[in-house]
Amino acid sequence: MEEICSKCNKNPSGKPGDVSFLYKNHRVIVFKCGKICLGCLKKEWVKNFEEHGKELVPSLTGRLKVNWKFFVEAESLERSDRLADILISFGIFSVDPEGNWNILSDALVGLNPKFNVIYLYFTRREDAMDYIQAKYSNTLYGWRLEYAKKTIKKETTPDKRGEK
Ligand SMILES: [Zn+2]
Repeated sequence: MEEICSKCNKNPSGKPGDVSFLYKNHRVIVFKCGKICLGCLKKEWVKNFEEHGKELVPSLTGRLKVNWKFFVEAESLERSDRLADILISFGIFSVDPEGNWNILSDALVGLNPKFNVIYLYFTRREDAMDYIQAKYSNTLYGWRLEYAKKTIKKETTPDKRGEK
């Protein structure tokens, strides 16, 4: 028997997994649990974005523009998780290093933001540069920006490593 959404008690909730929808012409990708339908999930996402994301992403016309100064301020107050979550759903952050940008200190310590304990990578170079500017321009901190082209993961089987 198909499960019914626990929010609207009307639509079938569907299988759990990543789902995508458009918000003002921007693709949003979020994880949907098995207890809620896509319509209700979208409504929840929009409500959360309108409450917490407007200052973070002030313009949705054309290319997404992120207010990194605002993000860095939230980080210093340890209130950036909700914001990071929004940026993950917009694809500004990725949990995968491959094809993405990583900021390192002179001692090669990772300086990218985190979501809970998960390390995040910038998908766009300009965001990484703006983040550096917002966070480190007034410090003596040395940094370098790195682009990860290919990574080998633990789960990659040995005979497939050469093909990737
Ligand atoms: Zn629903």
